[in-house]
Amino acid sequence: MKRKLATQILLLAAIALFTIALPSRSAFSEPTAARHSKLAAPQYDDPYSDFRNARYTNSGLLSERDEIKLGTQLHREVTKKYNLTDVGLDRVERLGQRCARASLRPNLLYKFHVVQSREINGFSLPGGHIYVTTGLLKIANDNELASVLAHEIGHIVARHSLKTLKTRQEYNELAKSIGDLTGVAGDVGRDLGIALGQMVGEGFLTIHSRDEEREADFLGVRGMAKAGFDPQGMVTMFQKLKHVEGQEPDLLGSLFSDHPDAQERIDNTRYEIARMRRR
Ligand SMILES: [Zn+2]
Repeated sequence: MKRKLATQILLLAAIALFTIALPSRSAFSEPTAARHSKLAAPQYDDPYSDFRNARYTNSGLLSERDEIKLGTQLHREVTKKYNLTDVGLDRVERLGQRCARASLRPNLLYKFHVVQSREINGFSLPGGHIYVTTGLLKIANDNELASVLAHEIGHIVARHSLKTLKTRQEYNELAKSIGDLTGVAGDVGRDLGIALGQMVGEGFLTIHSRDEEREADFLGVRGMAKAGFDPQGMVTMFQKLKHVEGQEPDLLGSLFSDHPDAQERIDNTRYEIARMRRR
């Protein structure tokens, strides 16, 4: 039983995006400046300096049309692996569409889904598919839930999964199959389904680098504020995750040791909130 749960958690953790890994060392009391001392000075002043002037398009990646086709295929694979539910879906849809319209990619059709799971988690796929767990819905108030949704929308705005896909060895082959795909039936659809199912299983498209997480946090906090939510919800969401980590760490994707730690994300979010208030 325990093992089964552990396996399940591992699987979910493999596709975790928003979950955080907290260092066991006592880094939390360390002053921020000390932790960042290895980084260049401008990054300490502005954790998001790399992202402020970014422009986001599909140029050099899959076209938006193919991205949407890919998303439809990947979503099919997700439904095979996870239990989707209508519980809480109205709420997710309502908050999510508000954040989506305020995002830097407002014209994409976003589709929100709820996964039945105790794990506290959220993830997204190309083409506008966003998933949150029932475990997350239970602990998050509306502003906090909006922060997770806006963060996931941020990954889609920045085309993180499409960039990751491009690093795949069989990218050209895949891109061609997706381009050729006119429906889900037939050999192309079947072969593609197998390849994509594998990627979903590996978490290949849903695991992001630290910089991508930072970028999604940045796009998320700005997007949720623009949508009229209290951006402080992102701070309290991180604080709740930190608390859960102390109480029931199994509920978080603890494999994410290379992600920005919770305190750094809290510090960065506070920085951005203060900056938004100054303008
Ligand atoms: Zn993320």
